[in-house]
Amino acid sequence: MTEIIRLTAAEIAAKVQAREVSAVEVAQAHLDRIGAVDQAVHAFLHVDTERALQAAKAVDEDVAAGRPAASPLAGVPLALKDVLTMQGAPTTCGSKTLEGWQPPYDATVTTRLLAAGVVILGKTNMDEFAMGSSTENSAFGPTRNPWDLDRIPGGSGGGSSAALAAFEAPLAIGTDTGGSIRQPGSVTGTVGVKPTYGTVSRYGLVAFSSSLDQAGPCARTVLDAALLHEVIAGHDPLDSTSIDTPVPPVVAAAREGANGDLSGVRVGVVTQFAGDGYQPGVSAAFDAAVAQLRDLGAEIVEVSCPSFDLALPAYYLIAPSEASSNLARFDAMRYGLRIGDDGTHSAEEVMSLTRAAGFGAEVKRRIILGTYALSAGYYDAYYGSAQKVRTLIMRDFEAAFAKVDVLVSPTTPTTAFKIGERADDPMAMYKADLCTIPSNLAGNAALSVPCGLSEDDGLPVGLQIMSPALQDHRGYRVAAAYEAARDAAQGGPLIHRVPELEVAH
Ligand code: GLN
Repeated sequence: MTEIIRLTAAEIAAKVQAREVSAVEVAQAHLDRIGAVDQAVHAFLHVDTERALQAAKAVDEDVAAGRPAASPLAGVPLALKDVLTMQGAPTTCGSKTLEGWQPPYDATVTTRLLAAGVVILGKTNMDEFAMGSSTENSAFGPTRNPWDLDRIPGGSGGGSSAALAAFEAPLAIGTDTGGSIRQPGSVTGTVGVKPTYGTVSRYGLVAFSSSLDQAGPCARTVLDAALLHEVIAGHDPLDSTSIDTPVPPVVAAAREGANGDLSGVRVGVVTQFAGDGYQPGVSAAFDAAVAQLRDLGAEIVEVSCPSFDLALPAYYLIAPSEASSNLARFDAMRYGLRIGDDGTHSAEEVMSLTRAAGFGAEVKRRIILGTYALSAGYYDAYYGSAQKVRTLIMRDFEAAFAKVDVLVSPTTPTTAFKIGERADDPMAMYKADLCTIPSNLAGNAALSVPCGLSEDDGLPVGLQIMSPALQDHRGYRVAAAYEAARDAAQGGPLIHRVPELEVAH
């Protein structure tokens, strides 16, 4: 039998139902893999062996008793980003501030996963409070990219994507505020999806920028991402921004796409996302992917979205502004770390000492930026202008989607950079999200699917496909068609070309 850890989620679920393999064996195979390689990769902050095996056992009992599967993913292991709460396990958000804190309730995403019989292996590493593009901002040390351990796995959800690329889990959950699912997906050769804002509950997702935050699926194939998408999406009365509307039919779209015919589909290439700053190997892989879409029957047109040039500065006013407010809750009184509580300090001093020690440099930078942008006298000039830019971006998307069904671009301008290379240059780091941020500001759906290896460094490149709000299925259809053609042309799934990792003895 094929090695268990190399199977897709869909294959695992089918084999578990057919009793070809037990869910416990599947969980154990992944736990063993984590034990062997995670010292090198550091995708996980917390592994919950006991609980994973118990959840797997419950699935096996269902199968043995002939009960119908709880979902199409029953018995499939998953890695959960440490920004979503799960009772009985720590939630740190990659921050010293929350070290040792255990949440009193499950996030709705967690509840849905558990009800679906998904086997949660543990919590994955991330940039502190999801601020970053490299996972280097984690207080618990960086995650390494399985394609090259000296390179970053993207961020903020580098742990989730690295776990997939290292075959430590076939599925993962990420969150995407400015690109934190898609950019790690791109640089690790995996699939990452940001669903339409409001379609996956934010309840129990520790807030960074509430008007942008969106949880979504990470996987190694488009179909697996779609299956996970349908498990976690859907209306939730516990999240006031949750949309009460049917979940877009993403699984059907992924299956339809796999047939490979895109005739009649209009694909717009965003002209703003090319040229200076784009690594030649990334542009070449992207151009080849567009040519492939044309071969599949899609009509390709160039589309200009001029306000996308303003997306990055607008994001770096809106996201820090919301973060400065959201992170005020870490006041040393209610959660986690508390420093100076020895009877000699005032409450204000305890707060100040705790926040100074508990937050890392990037989080402090965002709080300072955001507090400034919201301050009296500057509010209109900064936050107010950024919100106007947001409206312009929405209008550009609207005009574009009147002409085309989906928009495409590279997911990120370069392949995975070296650990440390951008650590002292916030602007260089921020540019990793140049192409992903517009979809967060507009709230529409977008995903990244691997589109080959860059000819300049042999590292994975991602193709971003953006769809209108609530039309998530369009992106899945195009991505699945592209993926099938890519695999046929390149002799098998790209992810299987990831180098063998040194296994600890
Ligand atoms: N890299 C972006 C930032 O640092 C996006 C982060 C995210 O999507 N959580 O804010």
